[in-house]
Amino acid sequence: MIQSVKSIPAFDNKQQYATIEAEVSAAVLEVLASGRYIGGPAVNSFEQAFAAYHDVAECIACNSGTDALYLALRAFDIGAEDEVITTPFTFIATSEVVSAVGAKPVFVDVDASTYNLNLQQVAAAITPKTKAIIPVHLFGQPVDMTALMELAKQHNLKVIEDCAQSTGATWDGKKVGSIGDIGCFSFYPTKNLGGCGDGGAIATNNPEIAARMRVIKNHGQSNQYHYNEIGVNSRLDCIQAVILQIKLRYLDNWNAKRKAIASRYHHFLSQIPGIITPQELTGGEGVWNQYTIRILDGKREEQRKKLQDMGVNTMVYYPMPLHLQPVYQELGYKLGQLLVSEELSKEVTSLPMFPELSEEQQDQVIYAVKEVIS
Ligand SMILES: *Cc1c(COP(=O)(O)O)cnc(C)c1O
Repeated sequence: MIQSVKSIPAFDNKQQYATIEAEVSAAVLEVLASGRYIGGPAVNSFEQAFAAYHDVAECIACNSGTDALYLALRAFDIGAEDEVITTPFTFIATSEVVSAVGAKPVFVDVDASTYNLNLQQVAAAITPKTKAIIPVHLFGQPVDMTALMELAKQHNLKVIEDCAQSTGATWDGKKVGSIGDIGCFSFYPTKNLGGCGDGGAIATNNPEIAARMRVIKNHGQSNQYHYNEIGVNSRLDCIQAVILQIKLRYLDNWNAKRKAIASRYHHFLSQIPGIITPQELTGGEGVWNQYTIRILDGKREEQRKKLQDMGVNTMVYYPMPLHLQPVYQELGYKLGQLLVSEELSKEVTSLPMFPELSEEQQDQVIYAVKEVIS
């Protein structure tokens, strides 16, 4: 029997904060004392550091990952009558922005082993109205960007990468978000590079598109108090910028720790009947925002409860695929139409995953999963 039944959270960022508290407090106090809270050197400096990290020409900081995606669609003038292909097995923000600009999200199914877009299905869904594809590097795992870019090129489509869960992941040696036309990032606290509040950023190598996004995120202002188009207010606060710039220096180290935890989970759990562990495509390196297993035979809820009784808290991302959400009823998708996503939504369970998860805690997770599931 297990001795300690101390509860392990699915996610915890208090320990991480403790390791950088002195640096972060000093930087935040400096901003407070400076009197400059919006824009200026703190934000410019973070944008430069984030662009350099991704080896891209431009980074634009904004208020959230959702805004980053919205600004990307606006920059390409995607709107009414346009279609954007994406996955239904993601957070609502990915498709919400497509609807927000007046375009139509077209959902295609995912691959059962990577949980990411099935590229054959993407190809089959392209119509003359298709303007863009939004691949999501879900749970930190990169999409096959070589194949996706090839497909997009053939059909002259824009690629907007949703990197909200995958900051630091690579495909073919390149950082995700630097491969498509635009990369969109979130700094929501649970992401791999998480701030102390909301935040987001856009990466691109296209200077014209970058300039356009800077205008739209600043109320559509072309020159001071002159507006050529309707924009929004989407800014990253100076306080978030200095915190994120500190955390960016630790990101590779934290991602390496997530990778080590994932390897251990894989080593001990991949042979257990009754569950399926996640597969990584060769060609990419994921950053494990989540370690998400599938619990088979309709036993997820019962087994999650048992895991919880043994101190192991899990999460379900996502319990209902987007094509079946009430808000998208008008799009006319039917139950059974995107079967892999529908099955995954009934089976997926994310195990505790954060860089500071100790070996002892990992052992407790592994022990509990083996005990409950086999
Ligand atoms: C978190 C997330 C977003 C949105 O980011 P916010 O910063 O919360 O707006 C978009 N897409 C995916 C896949 C996400 O996980």
